[in-house]
Formats: sequence, C-alpha cells, structure tokens
Amino acid sequence: MAETQDLVTLYRQTVLDHSRQPRNFRRLDPADRTIVGHNPLCGDKMTLYLNIDQDRIEDLAFEGTGCAISMASASIMTEMLRHRALDEVQHEIESVIGTFEPHGQDDTPIAGAMAALGGVRAYPSRIKCATLAWKTLAAALQNQNTTVTTED
Ligand code: ZN
Repeated sequence: MAETQDLVTLYRQTVLDHSRQPRNFRRLDPADRTIVGHNPLCGDKMTLYLNIDQDRIEDLAFEGTGCAISMASASIMTEMLRHRALDEVQHEIESVIGTFEPHGQDDTPIAGAMAALGGVRAYPSRIKCATLAWKTLAAALQNQNTTVTTED
C-alpha cells in the first residue's frame, strides 16, 4: 500500500509541476502548422505550434489556458514528442488516446510521463481534458488548419 501511495503522490506532483510551469509554453514564429484545440465542456483552449523537419518534429510548443489536467497533458506531450520521428509520434498519439478513451476505467499501462494522468480515467468528464492536446496534434499532423473541438 505504501508503494501505491508514493506513486499517487509522485503522479500528483508531476501533474502540478507541469501545470504550474508548463514546458515549451511559447509561440513558435514562424510555425509550419498552427492549430487550436478547444474543449468547451471544461473551457480548455490551446494553440499548438509545430515545426517539421523532413520526417521528424523539429519543434513543438503551445500556449493556452485551461485546467491543470489539460495544461499538464500538453506540457508532457511536448516534452515527449519534440525531436521525435513522425512515425513514432503517430504511434505515441494513438497509444495515449487509445489508453485514455475507450473504456474509461481501463487499467492498461500508459506510456511515459502521461502515466501521471492515468487517474483521470476514473472521471469520464475529464478524459477530454487529458486528450485534447494529443487530438489537436493529430489533426496538425494531418495538415488540418482548423480548430479541433471535443464537442461537435
Ligand atoms: Zn479541462
């Protein structure tokens, strides 16, 4: 039990740390792609900036406002995916969205630092906060210059 408790504390610290001091929280100018992600249910709104160099992400940054979960998720995502090859990035996006979305309380392990947000899966209304940045990046990679919204 003690170990589990330590893990919960560690995860909470990771989320707080990223939400209070988001990594790569800046505008890229110029940016190859700029895309807005919006989760109206919670009020999370972010602009994602992406620069691509051949087949890898050269730079990835964001600006925005939202709850701690959405900001931490975007911050963790930029740290995980900057400088990564695009095919790896695509795989990571599918993996993260897949482990958060389908079953709500799924216990499937989550890759990398996003595991810190795994507790969100117990709260279906917050899952969209955790996946917003990832869905926005997925759209940016498909070259959509649009606004991604979690509600149609
Ligand atoms: Zn939110």
